[in-house]
Amino acid sequence: MYNHLQAVQLTGFTQESPGKRPVFLFLPLRDAQGKLVDLWLETASLASLSVTEVCFSSWLGMPSSLLLEPLWQTLEADLVGCLHYQLASGKLGKVTVTPLPGRYLVELLEEIPPIPDNGDATDVIVLKTVEDYLQQKNRELKTFFDGALDMHSISNSQGKFFEVNHAFYQTLGYSPDELKQIPFLNLIHPDEQSWVYENLLRNILHHPVRNQVNRLRRKDGTYRIFEWNAIGIDEVVYGSARDITEREQAQEQLRALHERLQLATQAAGQGIWENNLEKNEIIWDDRLCEIHELPTSKHKRSYADYLQTIHPDDRADFLTKRQFELAGTDDRLKAIYRIHWPDGTIRWIETSGRIFRYPDGRPRRLIGVAWDITPRMLADAALRDSEQRFRQIADHVDEVFWIHSAQPFELLYINPAYERVWQRSCESIYEDPMSFIDGIVAEDKPAMQAFIQDYRAGKERQMDYQLERPDGSRCWVSVRSFIVRDAAGHIIRHLGVVTDISSQKEKELVLQQALLRTQELSQLKSQFVATVSHEFRTPLATMQSSLELINYHLASATAPLPISKHLRVIEQEIEKVTDLLSDFLSASALESGNIRVNARWFDLAALCEELLSTHFSRRQDQRRAHFLVEGTACQLYSDPRLVEHVLINLLANAFKFSTTDPPTLRIEFKPSKVVVHVIDQGIGIPLSEQSNLFQAFFRASNAGAIRGTGLGLAIARQFVEHLSGHLGVQSQEHKGSTFTMTLPINFSVLAG
Ligand code: ADP
Repeated sequence: MYNHLQAVQLTGFTQESPGKRPVFLFLPLRDAQGKLVDLWLETASLASLSVTEVCFSSWLGMPSSLLLEPLWQTLEADLVGCLHYQLASGKLGKVTVTPLPGRYLVELLEEIPPIPDNGDATDVIVLKTVEDYLQQKNRELKTFFDGALDMHSISNSQGKFFEVNHAFYQTLGYSPDELKQIPFLNLIHPDEQSWVYENLLRNILHHPVRNQVNRLRRKDGTYRIFEWNAIGIDEVVYGSARDITEREQAQEQLRALHERLQLATQAAGQGIWENNLEKNEIIWDDRLCEIHELPTSKHKRSYADYLQTIHPDDRADFLTKRQFELAGTDDRLKAIYRIHWPDGTIRWIETSGRIFRYPDGRPRRLIGVAWDITPRMLADAALRDSEQRFRQIADHVDEVFWIHSAQPFELLYINPAYERVWQRSCESIYEDPMSFIDGIVAEDKPAMQAFIQDYRAGKERQMDYQLERPDGSRCWVSVRSFIVRDAAGHIIRHLGVVTDISSQKEKELVLQQALLRTQELSQLKSQFVATVSHEFRTPLATMQSSLELINYHLASATAPLPISKHLRVIEQEIEKVTDLLSDFLSASALESGNIRVNARWFDLAALCEELLSTHFSRRQDQRRAHFLVEGTACQLYSDPRLVEHVLINLLANAFKFSTTDPPTLRIEFKPSKVVVHVIDQGIGIPLSEQSNLFQAFFRASNAGAIRGTGLGLAIARQFVEHLSGHLGVQSQEHKGSTFTMTLPINFSVLAG
C-alpha cells in the first residue's frame, strides 16, 4: 500500500523551490468500510506551484518509508498531525497534516539548521537548538507581521482577535486592545453581516476565504472597502486584508467615465477604435462596426483588415498621412476618407485619435473615434454645386445682385452687372461698401439712407430711385431687399436686387401723358357735343322759320313777297352747316392721316384777294378786312386749297371775336418764306389758356356765347404743319389777337 501511495504521492513536490513552504491538498480514497486506501494529489495545488518534477523523499532527504509510515497513520486516524524527522543529511524536516472536508492539507515546513555533529549530541541539545531556531523565526515573523503594509490578524473561529498587526489597527483606527473586544463580524457593514456569516465565517475553518470584498467600519464610524482572505488552521483563523477603497473608487470613476464616454460617442454617432501596434490588433466597438455595415463581432481585426475597408483611391493618401503622423511628435491623428459598404455604397468617414508612445517616441498604441460624415459631405458638395450655378447665373443676369452676411454685416458678393449699371468697378464697392450711394441722385439720397437702415434691420423693402452715372447719363432703377434666415429663424444673409427700369419709366411717362390727353379730349368732346347740338340746331331752327314764313307769304299772296330774303337766310345757314361739316370732315381726315398735300405754284396775294371778296365782302356790319402786302410778291409752291382753308378760318375768327375795328390781313414776302398775319382788336385770349389754343375742341373761357366748335384752329395748325410751316398766336385779353402763319416759298424743299 505504501508503495502504491508513494507512487502517486511522490510525484507532487517541487525541487525547484526548496526554500518555500509547499502546501498540497490530497483527496482521500476510501474502501466500502471507510478505510483509507489511497491518496490523490489535487492537480490544482500542483498547478498553483508550477511543479515540474516531484520527489517528496528527495526533498526531505530521507527514505520515503520513514516519513510515510507515521504520515499514513495520521491520515488514517483523520487527525491533525505534526511530524518531525531527522533527515539522512542530518537536517530536521517537519510535515503538518490538516484534515479538511473531503481532503487533507499537507504542509512541508522549511528545513531547519543541521544539528551540530559532535558525536555527543543528546535530545536536549537538539531540542534547545530547535527552540532557539523557532524563537528566532518567531521574531522574524513578528517583524514581518508588524511591518507589513497589508493588514494581518490571528483570531479564533468566532472572529475574536488574538493578534492584529500595526497596519490592521491603524487602518481601522482602533487600538489593539479595543480590537480584541470587537468580534470580526461586528466590523462588517450591517447590510453585509448576515451574508458574510452564513456564507463565509460559519465554515471558515473548513473553507478558506479568498479575495472577498466587504465594507468594514472604522472607529470614526466611516466605512471603507477591504479585500480580505482568511484561512482556518487548528481552530485558528489567519486573516489578511487590504484597504481598496481608493482603488474601488478609482475603478468606479473609471466605469462612470467609460459609460459617459460610451454615451457621448453614441449620442454623437461615433464609434471607438483602438490599434495596438505591438500586437498588430485593431479593436472596434459595435457602433464602429455599424458605421461600416460590418457584423458586430468581437473578434479583433488586423491593420491590414482595416486598410481593406478604405476606398482604394484614398488608401495611399491615408497611409502617407498616417505614417507622417506616427513619425512626428504631435500625438494627434486625423483623417477623412471614403469606405465601401458591403452593398457597394460609398460613405465618407472622419476619424480623430491620439498616439501613445514609448519613452523613446516610437508609437505604441492608437486610440480614437470615427464617425460617418456622408450627409455633411453630400451637403457640402450640393452647396458647392449650387454656389457654382448661382455664380453662373448671377454673373450673367442684367440685374445688379449682392449678398451681405448678417454677423458681422459685410458685403460678401456683388455681381458684375453693378459695373454696367453704376459705371463703377466692383472692386470699388468691395473697398468701400457704401460708395454705391455716390451714384444716386441728390434728391433720392435721403430715401436711400432710410432704405439702408431698414435693410440692415432685416426689413424687406422696395423703392425706385435715379442714378447719375459718371458719363452724365441718368437712369431709373428699382431696388428690392430680401433676408435669409436659418432653421432657428435667425437672419443669416441680407440680399438686394436692383433692376434698371428706365424704359419702363419712359413708357409710364408716355402712358401718363396719353391718359392726360385722353382725359382732356373726353372733356373737350363732351363740351363739343353740347356745342355741336347747339350749332346744328340754331341754323336748322332758322331755316325752319324761314321756310314757314315763305309758306305763309305764299299762302297769303301778299305783295311784294320777301321770299328772296328768306331764301338768302336759308342759304347762309346752309353754308354754316356745310362749313361745320367740312371742319368735322377735315378733323377726322387729319385724325386718320388721310390729308394729302396737292402742291402747285400759285399767287398767294391773288388767292387772298379772292377769298376776301368771296367770303368777307358782304358782311352785315359792313366791316371789310384791310389787306397789306409787303416785300416782293412771288409765287408760292404749296397747296392753295389748304392755305385758303387756314386763312378763311383765321379771318372768320378775327371777325367773330371782334366787333368794332375790322381785321387786317398782312402778307410779308421774305427770301425763302412768306409770313401771313391776321390781326384783330377783339376780345383776345386769356394768357393762361393760350397754350391749349390749338387743341381740338378747345374754346377759351371768354368765348362765351360766341358760336364755335373749337375745331378750326386745331385743323388750321395741322394743315400748316403739313405744309412745313408754322402757325402761332400773340394775344392779350380785351386788346386783340394776331395769328401768324409762316410758310416756305417752296414747300417741296423742306418737305423733301
Ligand atoms: P371756334 O372759333 O369755332 O370756337 P376755333 O378753333 O377757330 O374754334 O377757335 C378756338 C377758340 O379760340 C375760340 O373758341 C376762341 O375762344 C379762341 N379764338 C380763336 N380766334 C380768336 C380770336 N381772333 N380772338 C379771340 N379768341 C379767338
